[in-house]
Amino acid sequence: MEVTLTPEEAVARLRAAGIEEVEREVRLLLAHARAGASGPTAAQEADPGDGFKALVERRERREPLALIVGRREFWSLSFTVSPATLIPRPESETLIEAALKAFPERTTVRRILDLGTGTGSLLLALLSEFAGAFGVGTDRVAAAAQLADGNARALGLSGRASFLVGDWAMAMAERFELVVANPPYVERGAIGQLMPEVALFEPPSALDGGVDGLDAYRAIFPELPRLLALNGVAIVEIGAGAGATVIGLARAAGLEVRGVSADLSGIPRAVELAVGGTKKSFGREGRGG
Ligand code: GLN
Repeated sequence: MEVTLTPEEAVARLRAAGIEEVEREVRLLLAHARAGASGPTAAQEADPGDGFKALVERRERREPLALIVGRREFWSLSFTVSPATLIPRPESETLIEAALKAFPERTTVRRILDLGTGTGSLLLALLSEFAGAFGVGTDRVAAAAQLADGNARALGLSGRASFLVGDWAMAMAERFELVVANPPYVERGAIGQLMPEVALFEPPSALDGGVDGLDAYRAIFPELPRLLALNGVAIVEIGAGAGATVIGLARAAGLEVRGVSADLSGIPRAVELAVGGTKKSFGREGRGG
């Protein structure tokens, strides 16, 4: 008989490893082990056996739960995740809310661009809301673009989403009503101090914003005037405390800052930008800048 781990022991071990909400996590790990256990028994009754122990040990080493079970929910949609890119975060849903507020008339959005799409979570959540829109997601990391493409298929959105491998909007000649980005924005020297789940298991390509954390904004902002359609809007995620600096960079690039939305913790998270001179109040006939 193999030595297995009881749920109670698992709770104690994960708690000792400094993990919060352990009961919930152990329940999810147990369900995942049971679903993976072979045999004719119904999933609820299957002996999780050694599989469960192995999963708990991975979590004990602070591997993110999402990577262990392979999925994470974002905007009530289920995404496959992988070590190739960032795991979707609840605070990034602030960008979706800001987009819905920016375009109360949903049909005005026909083209959406997601720069650094990762799992595709931002683009696919937006396509689920803007039902008449087509979207393009780009990522420098081919494995991420592939993952996003798989997520689009799984969510039934692949007919309206395409993914490209490349640097930001390089070679993009189209204009978009809505451009979104959750770029890497952690200061390079601070990555090691993030929680182990992030620092040890999420790739630098999704986190490292250069020495001051702002490299991505410096690359993206000057491109927005050629990417945004008339009355188009760009919404970018920012790190905690980065608001003033990012707004300064946007203005220096000739962009108009139309607002900043806070996440559920009250942290300014989504910065809404337009091309300076665009007079939204003039409606669709307004003169673009
Ligand atoms: N918000 C992420 C974190 O918690 C950083 C994601 C990013 O760089 N875009 O570390």
